[in-house]
Amino acid sequence: RTVYVNGEYLPETEAKVSIFDRAFLMADGVYEVTSVLDGKLIDFEGHFVRLQRSLSELDIAEPCTRDELLEIHRELVRVNEIHDGLVYLQVTRGSDGDRDFVFPNPETTKPTLVLFTQSKPGIMDSAASKNGIKVISIEDLRWHRRDIKTVQLLYPSMGKMMAKKAGCDDAWLVEDGFVTEGTSNNAYIVKGNKIITRALSNDILHGITRAAVLRFAQEAQMEVEERNFTIAEAQDADEAFVTSATTFVMPVVEIDGAKIGDGVPGAKAKRLREIYLEESIKAGV
Ligand code: PMP
Repeated sequence: RTVYVNGEYLPETEAKVSIFDRAFLMADGVYEVTSVLDGKLIDFEGHFVRLQRSLSELDIAEPCTRDELLEIHRELVRVNEIHDGLVYLQVTRGSDGDRDFVFPNPETTKPTLVLFTQSKPGIMDSAASKNGIKVISIEDLRWHRRDIKTVQLLYPSMGKMMAKKAGCDDAWLVEDGFVTEGTSNNAYIVKGNKIITRALSNDILHGITRAAVLRFAQEAQMEVEERNFTIAEAQDADEAFVTSATTFVMPVVEIDGAKIGDGVPGAKAKRLREIYLEESIKAGV
């Protein structure tokens, strides 16, 4: 596989980053994951705008322009022959060659930019998307700037491991009695014609897929209600699902052992998945 590091395309075995890089020592970095479907980048613009926001919230310089970034994405998709999969991008604060809590001088320390691809054949009709996934609920113990897409992913990883141990696929995070989001996705329930999901704030990541799916839901005459919901309300809902750039719209069929609706993927989740895939491939670049 060919990867990109700070201006160079290299075989993955030759790519190098300093051990003093603040992402390695302090999780001081942000990332984006953009899906590739039919060889096209899905919602590149949305991911780029969110990246700019994450960088600006943390005072990390932009490593290159939007056009350069698009070109790097396209080149990696081309050389690695990605038909369906993803492009992972990470920008870190870099390092001045030592460990210090104080940020290095931005005049002399440039951010580190890394991109690589992952091929995911068959991702559009995975078994999980046909059968739905099972989730457990756990307390949300993450920091309170979840709107910034940092590489600080230890707690979400622990959550996935807890789910796996419980024979499930993922965890929904709960704070003050209300679901915030999934470990790596936004969470929704469906009641009648209503799609219910938590409103945007610092409590959750502002999903690029979330924005698209809510727009498609409205265009398909579904009602959208942005508000908090509990696990009990979710267990009692007609349907549940999650969204993310790499799982699109993924039906949830069980929460903490309780079946949702008939225990199979719901009609609205299936419809939204179809619309999302069709429309976003059409708009892909
Ligand atoms: N919430 C969290 C915590 C996430 O990690 C992700 C995926 N990175 C999402 C939501 C979904 O965001 P997106 O639709 O932009 O992939």
